[in-house]
Amino acid sequence: MQGTPVRKASGGFHWEGVDTLSYKDEGSAPFRDVTRQVLFEEAADGAQWRYFEVAPGGWSTLERHEHTHAVMVLRGRGRCLVGEGVYDISERDLVEVPPMTWHQFRAAPDAPLGFLCLVSSERDRPRLPDAAALAQLRRLPQVAAFLDGETA
Ligand code: MN
Repeated sequence: MQGTPVRKASGGFHWEGVDTLSYKDEGSAPFRDVTRQVLFEEAADGAQWRYFEVAPGGWSTLERHEHTHAVMVLRGRGRCLVGEGVYDISERDLVEVPPMTWHQFRAAPDAPLGFLCLVSSERDRPRLPDAAALAQLRRLPQVAAFLDGETA
């Protein structure tokens, strides 16, 4: 831990001493209108706790990896893809993303989607779907509609 143990929330979904970062390096993976804040770097023996916020109409990268995500929605609403399931999510809902499971978060058109995401500090890099994996996902109508940004 560095500095004070308490960092006050300031101005909504921001915290003292926490920078608002870009979600990923621009061009490294497809996404739209996502910010990232690292709340705890090495909390609880090797866990990292982040807050992501997807602006209305935005979406995170469609990806998968060996590490897991433990997510709690803190602000707003939207939908998520986990595996072959599409789910409506809103404040205080919990989402678990198992290893090697395709996932993406999309904010509603008229609301942001802010969520806490717990990961291991040591983790593998996200992998993006190739054309074959995308085609496989798109065979399911509800997944294709989700990926196309259609709202239920
Ligand atoms: Mn991920």
